[in-house]
Amino acid sequence: MPLSAGRTARVVSPTRSSIVFVSIDMEGCATLVHWDEVRPADGAEYRRARRIMTNEANAVIEGAFAAGAAAVIVNDSHSAMRNLLLEEIDARAQVVSGRIKRDYMLQGLTSDCSVAFFIGYHGAIGDAHAVMGHTYSPRVIYECRLNGDVVSELPINAAFAGHHGVPVALVSGDATTLAEARRVLPWALAVETKRSVGYYAADCRSPESVRAELRQMSERALRDVGAFAALRVETPLDMEIDTVKTIHADVACLIPGFERRGPRTIGYIASDAAAMYRALMTVIYSGASA
Ligand SMILES: [Zn+2]
Repeated sequence: MPLSAGRTARVVSPTRSSIVFVSIDMEGCATLVHWDEVRPADGAEYRRARRIMTNEANAVIEGAFAAGAAAVIVNDSHSAMRNLLLEEIDARAQVVSGRIKRDYMLQGLTSDCSVAFFIGYHGAIGDAHAVMGHTYSPRVIYECRLNGDVVSELPINAAFAGHHGVPVALVSGDATTLAEARRVLPWALAVETKRSVGYYAADCRSPESVRAELRQMSERALRDVGAFAALRVETPLDMEIDTVKTIHADVACLIPGFERRGPRTIGYIASDAAAMYRALMTVIYSGASA
């Protein structure tokens, strides 16, 4: 299996030197089911969504420090990446806000981190029963494949973390997201925020109960930090992307290393997951400007 999970768990005991990296998206946070809620705008719906996301970040920060974390780095990973209400974030955490950032949803993750948490994650474009399912940029990417497997953001981001030797220890999102987490990261703890009924509907847990479980699982992840493995992928990595329009493929193929494999299909052979991630960013940003 191309995205085979190399069992390379590091023997790390929970110490005060543990650095926790949190990549937090918005679509998978509790109760959010529609773009009107998560698209940056002036309205009450987005203001509420920012609070939901901020509270979920605070829940995992609190759990990590309760377990003795030395530092928690939170990367705002949604849309324009300025969603978290920074005045309301637990003062002990550092927050990476805004864009453009080279490592996108994983800016701030280094090999010094003990574990990574993926919070508020969502299903891939094309997944059934995935609220707002998409893969990075719904305007540019129609489908993304790694070594032949259709993938969502979760395994791609986990491969980047794995390249740095950092295991993903906790994932939260809808049931569809967690099903993929179980396949790719079977060791990861999981918090289900909702069960998606369709693209714009979900059976939702209360934000309060989601926050309580996030706090608890964050603490548990750090107390059991040796139980998680860094995801290893076979290299070189073959990344293949079907773009939404042919213009997106036209522009991507101006970038050295990309090849045209079909009218809307481009390919890139990456030496490792970090190079793959960088190439993917160029597709997203060049496509957005095309
Ligand atoms: Zn998002």
